[in-house]
Amino acid sequence: MQIARIFAHQVDLPLVESSYQWASGKSVSVFDSTIVGVETKCGLVGYGEVCPLGPVYLPAYAAGVRTGLRELAPSLIGQDPRQLAKINDRMDVVLKGHPYVKSGIDIACWDLLGKSTNMPVCELLGGRFGESVRLYRAISQLPPDQMAANVAKYREEGYTRFQLKVGGDPDLDIERIRAAREVLPATDRLVADANTGWTQHEAIRVARAVRDLDVYIEQPCATYEECLTVRRQIDQPFILDENIDSLHALLRAKADGAMDVVNLKISKLGGLTRTRQLRDLCVACGIAMTLEDSWGGDIATAAIAHLAHSTPEANRFTSTDFNSYVTVSTAVGAPTREQGRMSASHEPGLGIEVRPEMLKSPALDIFGA
Ligand SMILES: [Mg+2]
Repeated sequence: MQIARIFAHQVDLPLVESSYQWASGKSVSVFDSTIVGVETKCGLVGYGEVCPLGPVYLPAYAAGVRTGLRELAPSLIGQDPRQLAKINDRMDVVLKGHPYVKSGIDIACWDLLGKSTNMPVCELLGGRFGESVRLYRAISQLPPDQMAANVAKYREEGYTRFQLKVGGDPDLDIERIRAAREVLPATDRLVADANTGWTQHEAIRVARAVRDLDVYIEQPCATYEECLTVRRQIDQPFILDENIDSLHALLRAKADGAMDVVNLKISKLGGLTRTRQLRDLCVACGIAMTLEDSWGGDIATAAIAHLAHSTPEANRFTSTDFNSYVTVSTAVGAPTREQGRMSASHEPGLGIEVRPEMLKSPALDIFGA
């Protein structure tokens, strides 16, 4: 099997809630996503998706996905898409870094591997653990009472895990955490995710001000060193996200005892192949995970479902149904939420069919000679 063509389509994904706000006044109203297609000589097509959370969340931006693909794609024509270690090795040889650019190709190659073997991706990634995957709902940054009302609203829809977007004014953040915890039963989990928005002293202060509450603290500060200092001075369960962007970062954090839970995003790490390396290490080390991506629609959500469903339940903290946050459906067969949970498809590959109307006028199209 050989890759004959790599193409990409730009898709706008407007938000159901009209905008999404997080730390330090950052926000997005329409996500710019890229659907990546990898076609073989025999005419089989696999799909992936990359959708950065705007240009200011991670060192990644939507136009960069497409520009990077133009750089990468010619070197992959003629390669066997089922040989995923070789595909990833080749991508690293021809383009240093830029993991998010590589993620869509890697996901599409997993889709092809599944389609060519008649197996769902989650079974190829290790097997299906349990009936379904528990989801969290991200609560966009708003005044405390509105955030608490949104937590209550999404709880009604079946979610039992919530991630509050804090990382704003520390005094207001203390109120946000208190107001949200107040509307939840003791068995629900609440995460205060500052998305790097606090300075070290404010992070310690906020955590101490809510130490009587059952709340997790996620990525309080910008650097790993600041987060580690905060972690050592507070007693809440601690999650790292933005700083864990490679296997080496995870190994260092594990050695330092820097977190209890880690947030693994597929495109932050360069695709399912690389994310699986970190996932398996976390399982071996007893670290729980939020398994997700930076954002996306139906295809990204399908990839998340396969990654999460192939992870032992004890190590699964939460995952995300990003396709329920946006107003556009790009594929049929994508996971749909039921009572705050989703599951990976039993169909071959990712188990999705991209809607034909999404595949008009490609942003790039690279063929073999
Ligand atoms: Mg996070």
